[in-house]
Amino acid sequence: MCYFTGMTQPKARQTLSDSVIKAIQAKYPQGFLSVLPEDLVNYGKDWTRVFPPNPSAIVFPRSTAEVASFLAFCNENSIQVVPSGGRTGLSGGAVATQGEVVLSLVRMNRMGKLDTLAHTLEVEAGVVTEAVHERCHAENLTWPVDFASKGSSHVGGNIATNAGGVKVIRYGLTRNWILGLTAVTMEGQVLKLNGALEKNNTGLDLRHLLIGSEGVLAVITEATLKLVKNPESLDVFFFALEDIPAVLKLFHEVRRGPFQTMAFEFLTRNCLRVLDEIKSLRPPFSDLDSHQAYVLLEVERPESSNGQKLLDEWLAGLFERGLVHDGVLAQSPKEAKELWGLRENISESLAHRGFVHKNDIALPVASLESFIDDLKNYFSDQHSGFEVFIFGHIGDGNLHVNTMKPDKMDQDEFVKRCKKIDQGLFALIQKYRGSISAEHGIGLLKKDALGFSRTHEEIVLMKQIKKVFDPKGLLNLNIGP
Ligand SMILES: Cc1cc2nc3c(=O)[nH]c(=O)nc-3n(C[C@H](O)[C@H](O)[C@H](O)COP(=O)(O)OP(=O)(O)OC[C@H]3O[C@@H](n4cnc5c(N)ncnc54)[C@H](O)[C@@H]3O)c2cc1C
Repeated sequence: MCYFTGMTQPKARQTLSDSVIKAIQAKYPQGFLSVLPEDLVNYGKDWTRVFPPNPSAIVFPRSTAEVASFLAFCNENSIQVVPSGGRTGLSGGAVATQGEVVLSLVRMNRMGKLDTLAHTLEVEAGVVTEAVHERCHAENLTWPVDFASKGSSHVGGNIATNAGGVKVIRYGLTRNWILGLTAVTMEGQVLKLNGALEKNNTGLDLRHLLIGSEGVLAVITEATLKLVKNPESLDVFFFALEDIPAVLKLFHEVRRGPFQTMAFEFLTRNCLRVLDEIKSLRPPFSDLDSHQAYVLLEVERPESSNGQKLLDEWLAGLFERGLVHDGVLAQSPKEAKELWGLRENISESLAHRGFVHKNDIALPVASLESFIDDLKNYFSDQHSGFEVFIFGHIGDGNLHVNTMKPDKMDQDEFVKRCKKIDQGLFALIQKYRGSISAEHGIGLLKKDALGFSRTHEEIVLMKQIKKVFDPKGLLNLNIGP
C-alpha cells in the first residue's frame, strides 16, 4: 500500500545540477546553502539511525519570506524538499534518503513577545523546546510540551509531529497548545492561520490539519504558543510493583487520588537493568530483582489545607493493600530530577546498549492489560529469543515496545526479522483498535503500515488533501506509506 500513490515517486536519487546550485547561491545570502559533507550527514538524518542520510544540499533560511521564496523556486524547478527541525524524530520523517534538499529551520530561532495577559508566546519554528520553557519560567508560565529530547527538538518539529510526551495525561498533545501558525506551501503561499485567537469558528481550521502532518503539506515557520501557569507544588514518586497488572491497578487508584495527575510513566525491570548498566542510574530500592514493573508518578499536591494529609493517607493505603511493593517520594527538586532521570534516560541507554527496533503504539487504556498479555504470548510463541523492553506513557495508553538485536544476530537479519515481527504486532494492535504510531508519526519507518490504523477511505482523502497543498508532490514525498 502506498499513502501517496499517484504522486511522482522518485525512481533515482535527486541531484542538483551545478547551474541550480549557482542559481540558489546567487539568489540568497552567503551561507544559505551548504553541500559540506558534514552538513549533509548532520542535517540529513534524525534520531532513528536506520536510514542512511543522503541529501543533495542543505539550506538555512532566516525568515518566512526566505522559506516562501525558496519553496516557490523548488516548485518551479521540481526540486524535492524535506523540512528539518531538531532531528530528534523517531520515525525517519526528517531523513533525506533520495537526494532531497533539506530545509533546516535551525536559524529561525527568534522568540517574540511573551504576553502575560493572554498567556501567549510568539516564536519561530526553529526555537528549541527547552528554550521556550526557560523563557516562560521567568513569568511562572510554561508551554506544557515536555519530553526527554526537549533540549534538541524544535517547536516546529513538535508541531509537525503533534508531539506528546510525559505530560499528555495532564495537558494533552501539542495540538492543544498552539493558537496560531504561519506556514508556507510548496508553491510559496504564506498561510497565516488563526493568529492569537482562542475562539474562531469561521470555516475549516487549517491550523489543525497542519499540526501532526509531519511536513507533508507545508513548512511551519512561526507559531503563537498558548501557555499555562506552572503547577504550584509537585510531588514525584517512584514505585516498585509486582507486575504489569499491578501497574494498571495502581493507575485505577491514581485516577481516584486526591490530586491532579501530572505524569504516570512506567518501565519494565529490564529497562532499569540497562539504565544501571549503561548510566549507573538506579532507584534507591534495596532489591530490584523481585519487581517486574516500575512507575513514576508525578502529582500536583492538593491546594487545600489538609492536602498533605490526604496525600499521605492515599499513599499509606497503597502500601496497606499491597498495591505497591516499594516506593520513594522525592524530598527535593534534585531528587525529583534524579527520579525523572530514570524515565528519561531509557531511550538513550537502550541505544547505547545495542541496536534497537522501536515501536511506539497506543491502545485504549481499558484494553492495555489484555493487550500486554497477548503481546507477551505473541513474542514467546512466535519470536522467542528477542529481548523486549516496554516503557512509556501508560496513563494515556501509550507503550514504547523496543526489541533489542541479539548480540550474535547480523543487523540485516535482525531488520528482516523485525519487519516480520511488526506485521503480527500491528495486526494485534488493529484487533484492539489501537494505533501503530502514538506519538512518533509515520515517517519512513511506518510508511507501509498506515492501513493498520487508518481506513482505505481515510487514506484516499489524505492523498487528495496532499495534492491540494503540494500539487507536484515535492514536499516530504517519501514519508507516509
Ligand atoms: C530521547 C527521545 C525521547 C523522545 N520522547 C518523545 C516523547 O515522549 N513524545 C513524543 O511525541 N516524541 C518524543 N520523541 C520524538 C521527537 O523528539 C519528537 O517527535 C519531536 O517533536 C520532533 O521534533 P524535531 O524538531 O526534532 O523534529 P524533526 O525530527 O526534525 O522532524 C520531525 C518531522 O517533522 C517535520 N518537520 C520538522 N520541522 C518542521 C517544520 N518547521 N515544518 C514542517 N515540518 C517539519 C520533519 O520533516 C519530520 O517529518 C523523543 C525523541 C527522543 C530522541
